[in-house]
Amino acid sequence: MRLSPAAVFDPMRWLHLLSFVLLSCSSAKPATSALDPAVTSLVIEVDYVPTAKPTSGRGQPLFQLTRSNLERLFNDTSVKVTIPSSDGDMEQLSDVTATTFSSDEMLAIADKHRNQKGTSSSVTFYVVFLDGYFKDSSGTRNDVLGVSLGNTGVIGMFKPVMDSVGATGKLPVATANFAGETTLIHELSHAIGLVNNGIALKSEHQDTANGKHCNNSECIMYYSNEGVDSLREFITRAVKDGNTVLFDSACLADIDAAKKK
Ligand SMILES: [Zn+2]
Ligand SMILES: [Zn+2]
Repeated sequence: MRLSPAAVFDPMRWLHLLSFVLLSCSSAKPATSALDPAVTSLVIEVDYVPTAKPTSGRGQPLFQLTRSNLERLFNDTSVKVTIPSSDGDMEQLSDVTATTFSSDEMLAIADKHRNQKGTSSSVTFYVVFLDGYFKDSSGTRNDVLGVSLGNTGVIGMFKPVMDSVGATGKLPVATANFAGETTLIHELSHAIGLVNNGIALKSEHQDTANGKHCNNSECIMYYSNEGVDSLREFITRAVKDGNTVLFDSACLADIDAAKKK
């Protein structure tokens, strides 16, 4: 029997559609099950285009804010978090010159450069910092800071948009540095299972009108904390240094309950 073309499953098309779902951060299954008792390691691999190289807050290792927050999510577990702390822990990509990136184009970069693959005891993410913008069916998106591509574990980060968070007003220099990290923490947390995205609610704090988000504007998982303007306000108000925990008590209670078997 021949299948009609419309019935053929096209995985690339499926991934593309999933990315739209995640962009608006609505219901998507967690990419991974980092809370599975068999999982002992969570590895974040980071590559970058030279002009989009991640930087750290003054005097701190790279990704200290992300590290602190992931370690808080996984405290009291056997999960060890690995994320680059210096330039040598990341790979520079010399063959990426585009200025806009579709989901498929980011997956192609990952196919070529991703080194860490998940196993039964490890969960991995591949994060690529790009000097350009996300591109979808509506065109070039100069308002999208980062995008998590379905259940692939691939996350694209868009440097010009991160820079725009710190570009206006008299903001601390740290604002731009923290823009990428807060976006990364938000996207990783969706993939890990927040809010009600695989990790069950312990209290009624889901902002259901806005999908898998928290109803507390002081929490990193508040829906508009992934938009440029409100992210700027959030960072200025909430991020004191690289050790600030950015989840509210409701989100922390959800994950803490999920860890206790
Ligand atoms: Zn979100
Ligand atoms: Zn929350």
